[in-house]
Amino acid sequence: MVHFIGAGPGAPDLITVRGQKLLGEADIIIYAGSLVNPALLDLKKEGCVVYNSATMTLEQVIDVMKEAESKGQTVARLHTGDPCLYGAIREQIDALDALGIAHDDCPGVSSFCGAAAALEMEYTLPDISQSVVITRMAGRTPVPERESIASFAAHQATMVVFLSTGLLEELSRELIAGGYTADTPAAIVYKATWPEEKTFVCTVGTLAETAKKNQITKTALMIIGNAVSQGNYRRSDLYNPAFTTEFREAEK
Ligand code: SAH
Repeated sequence: MVHFIGAGPGAPDLITVRGQKLLGEADIIIYAGSLVNPALLDLKKEGCVVYNSATMTLEQVIDVMKEAESKGQTVARLHTGDPCLYGAIREQIDALDALGIAHDDCPGVSSFCGAAAALEMEYTLPDISQSVVITRMAGRTPVPERESIASFAAHQATMVVFLSTGLLEELSRELIAGGYTADTPAAIVYKATWPEEKTFVCTVGTLAETAKKNQITKTALMIIGNAVSQGNYRRSDLYNPAFTTEFREAEK
């Protein structure tokens, strides 16, 4: 049995209770060492064998899983944040299916939630934006042309940009080409929820300069849109005394 587990964004106490339990029971842990906080490995039981997937290929990861399965052992496959975002789990699941090895998926707190928490930010402010676009710049992994940053920018929704810290000048250019103004609020969140977390509020036009000045070159998310300023929004209907909901009558 292989459990894919979301490790959370960094702070070791931000793994789920279920993920913590599965980690403590695993005979083998394979963790994404580039981003998963190694402090989570303290949860392992005695005799548990740990592999760092940062130095492994898909084939090597699957070989470890296959070997464990042949011995009736349980594997915890620990991915940063939530496995559903840029986690490369599908290729592992397909390989496990081909081998007839059972698997399941335990969600985690994604870094885009960790970044919002670092900024104490609501991505979906009434009258500002009701949508969040999660995307990345094309790097060595291409992004389909129909999903260009400029095309998403045209919506003026809140955007969270992963895996792009080294491409901030290009990111600004694409955002502006798509319709954001250079003075649209933006933020860079470095290592959200880690002890070394840093947040910088800037603008679409000053993303690259802000990262350079503060020596941020990786492990960051860029948050774009007017929601970053957290101003000029409309209060919610949900908590408005004049508004009736399923659970509460409007005040007369
Ligand atoms: N599955 C992960 C994302 C993996 S892709 C998740 O749900 O968060 C790796 C990218 O995620 C990094 O390049 C960076 O852009 C972002 N990232 C991961 N952890 C982060 C953190 N604690 N703070 C800021 N960005 C982070």
